[in-house]
Amino acid sequence: MNPIVLVVGSFAVMEGVSYAAHRWVMHGIGLVWHRSHHAPARAAFERNDLFPVCFSAVGVLLFALGSLGLDALGWVGVGVTAYGACYLFVHEVYIHHRLPVRVPHLAYLEWLRESHRIHHLSNAEPYGMLLPLVRGEAREPRTTRDPLDRRIPSIHR
Ligand SMILES: [Zn+2]
Ligand SMILES: [Zn+2]
Repeated sequence: MNPIVLVVGSFAVMEGVSYAAHRWVMHGIGLVWHRSHHAPARAAFERNDLFPVCFSAVGVLLFALGSLGLDALGWVGVGVTAYGACYLFVHEVYIHHRLPVRVPHLAYLEWLRESHRIHHLSNAEPYGMLLPLVRGEAREPRTTRDPLDRRIPSIHR
């Protein structure tokens, strides 16, 4: 199959995979780790950061299989890793300000931020990240604390 189709296709499929992982794993049996991400930030790293460490193993495996002659899986690994990099930028850097870097404000990224804010307020939909089409409503009353602020006072202020 054409490498471009494999890369773009696997990137697109990953939004569905990440939706399912967030909804049924991280808010299911994995809540023991994910809960740390919905609580106020206390340290530079949170237990939830173990998820991307685990998920990166999928990319490593795909690249390993690609290097063994299964080229198609290597290209899928490129798409999966590209999705992971975009997720990392959008979620950790743009939405939660976990790195002290300036980022451009774009309408698309602001839509993602507001969608994710609803997730943090409701612990429910939307679970999607780069294309959060399933909408939700903030069920909990708004608090003075910004649910998206994951900055650590000693690092950022
Ligand atoms: Zn978040
Ligand atoms: Zn969540």
